[in-house]
Amino acid sequence: MDQTTQLLLLVAATTVAIVALLLMLRRQRVDREIATRESRYATSSEGQKRCPSCGAYNTWTDRNCVQCRRKLPG
Ligand SMILES: [Zn+2]
Repeated sequence: MDQTTQLLLLVAATTVAIVALLLMLRRQRVDREIATRESRYATSSEGQKRCPSCGAYNTWTDRNCVQCRRKLPG
């Protein structure tokens, strides 16, 4: 194997490594965006809690949603 071939192989390997790294970083960023995405609804407002799953208004003392009976946050 002459020196030019070795150099070409090195360049090719480096390119593959960089592309893989960029793909990994992009994937991580997408995953993080999905994990930290906020709910469309506020957890509580004006003495009312809004259900994160169905969007129904509940009083802040309610522990479960009046509509879907799921556990409310907070
Ligand atoms: Zn609900």
